[in-house]
Amino acid sequence: MNIIKFPYEMQAYCRELRQKRASIGFVPTMGFLHEGHLSLVRRAKKENDTVIVSIFVNPAQFGPDEDLERYPRNFEKDISLLKSEGVELVFHPKASDMYPEGYATFIDVEQVTNRLCGLSRPSHFKGVATIVAKLFNIVGQCRSYFGQKDYQQTVVVKKMVRDLHLDVEVVVCPTVREADGLAISSRNSYLQPDERTAATVLIKALRAGEAEALRLRPCGKVEAAKVTDAMQSVLENELMAEVEYVEAADPDTLERLKQLNGKAILALAVRIGRTRLIDNLIMEI
Ligand code: AMP
Repeated sequence: MNIIKFPYEMQAYCRELRQKRASIGFVPTMGFLHEGHLSLVRRAKKENDTVIVSIFVNPAQFGPDEDLERYPRNFEKDISLLKSEGVELVFHPKASDMYPEGYATFIDVEQVTNRLCGLSRPSHFKGVATIVAKLFNIVGQCRSYFGQKDYQQTVVVKKMVRDLHLDVEVVVCPTVREADGLAISSRNSYLQPDERTAATVLIKALRAGEAEALRLRPCGKVEAAKVTDAMQSVLENELMAEVEYVEAADPDTLERLKQLNGKAILALAVRIGRTRLIDNLIMEI
């Protein structure tokens, strides 16, 4: 396996791959890899000649009071997992090489960043779009794989790719869950045992919302408020859960829906203790 640290070196390597006509599957991550990340790697491997994984905890996407310092890291374990998946190339740059002294260029995707997670994390998606654009420029033409778990991120990245004419095909892969339905996340490692039990309330609330929508469907109108109320009441039963948002939104624009008619995303963000968790479910009515 080749581990490359410098952006210019990575760029040269990817250029060579393209000259050899090798298709590139690219999986950007912040490391502390789990089955969710590995599902993206496997899909990328199936669909491309070469798979590149980047491991970079991107300071630009963390707010001033967020968990940048304590974000979990285990580079050795990540590498061993990627070796067992047969990944040939890992990009692992330093923050000082990605954002050198005097760095001043950021990407701001408008509209879709002003909703859902964007409301409580105002600079988060600017940091995400900036790092993803930089990584796409380094890797060059590729298919890039993202998880539905971070649904708003996939909308932001797709919009940026379209708006900036980037030569990247964005592939969105299903959320991988624990046996009890909790979406796997690096941040789950923060949860104390009682918090881990409480965290199943996210998927329970989403499923309750979906069930309510399907129950209302034969009656004609499916009011979004009834669906989010059903989600809220499940969340209220879990005393450890502090709700940030519960929404039924348009999957493309992320605008809040009044009625469910066609495709909808049910999405929520909940704090369990000090840990902020997100999840979502796409449904068709
Ligand atoms: P992160 O390291 O958290 O930035 O995640 C890197 C990529 O893995 C993102 O595209 C995430 O959406 C994706 N991902 C994280 N957790 C999961 C999961 N449980 N299932 C599928 N994809 C995931």
